[in-house]
Amino acid sequence: MKHKFQFSYKRQKLLTFTLVGSSLLVCLMSQAREFPSIKLPQKEYRLTGTSLQSVKEIVPYYDSCNTVYDDSLYQGEIVVTQEGTAGKQETTALITYLNGHAVSEEIIDSRVITPAIAREVHVGTKERPDFLIPVDDYVITSYVGPRWGRTHNGIDLAVNVGTPVKSSTAGTVIQSGWNGGYGISVYVDCGDGMVIRYGHLSETSVEVGQTVAQGDLLGLSGNTGNSTGPHLHFEMRVNDEVVDPLEYVKLQ
Ligand SMILES: [Zn+2]
Repeated sequence: MKHKFQFSYKRQKLLTFTLVGSSLLVCLMSQAREFPSIKLPQKEYRLTGTSLQSVKEIVPYYDSCNTVYDDSLYQGEIVVTQEGTAGKQETTALITYLNGHAVSEEIIDSRVITPAIAREVHVGTKERPDFLIPVDDYVITSYVGPRWGRTHNGIDLAVNVGTPVKSSTAGTVIQSGWNGGYGISVYVDCGDGMVIRYGHLSETSVEVGQTVAQGDLLGLSGNTGNSTGPHLHFEMRVNDEVVDPLEYVKLQ
C-alpha cells in the first residue's frame, strides 16, 4: 500500500508538473502569438481596404467634325454648313477606393440620351482666278464700247440695289465716296498699273488707303450718279487705258 501510495504520489506530482508545464508553455506560446496578432487587423486593412462604387453621371460628348471638299468654293474659303452641338450621355463608372482614396475609375456602361450633331464644314478646292466678277446674280446689260455717241468704259451688271460688291482682286483703295457721274464709287489700285472702278453704289464700306483682299466687301450696289437703273458699273484701266473686264474675269 505504502509503495503504491508513494508511486501514486509520484505519478500525481509528475502529472501536476506536466499539466502546469504544458499550460505555461501554451500560455507562453499564445502570448508569443499575441504580439503579431495585435497588428494583424491593420495589415489586413491595408491589404483589403478597397471598396467599389458605381456612379452615374450625365456628361457632354462631341462628334468629330465632317469636312466636305467643295469645288463650288474657292481655295481658302471655308463655309460652316452645320454647327456642331454637344450630345448628352449617361455614363456609369466603377470607382475603386483604397483607404478612402479613389485609385481607379472604369466606365462600365454609357448610354446616349441626346445624340451629338457633328459640325460640318465645306472647304473650297476651286482654283481662285486672278479676277472675280464683283457681284452675284447679275445680268450684263452693257459692254465696253461706243454707246449713245460716247464710249462706255466698263461693263454694266444689273443687280438689285443693296447687292454686296466684292473686290475683284486684291489692292489698295484710292477713292471711296461721291465721284461725279460715277455716283458713289470705289477705285482700287491693284498694282502693275491696273485700277478697277466700281460705280453707282448706294454706299461704300472701305476707306482710302485701306488694303483689300480679293472678295472683300467694298460696298453695296445702287443707282447713284449717271445711272438709268440699279446696276454696278465695273471698269478696268491699265495705265489709265480702258481695258475690257471680260478679258480678265471668268464669267460665272
Ligand atoms: Zn456703266
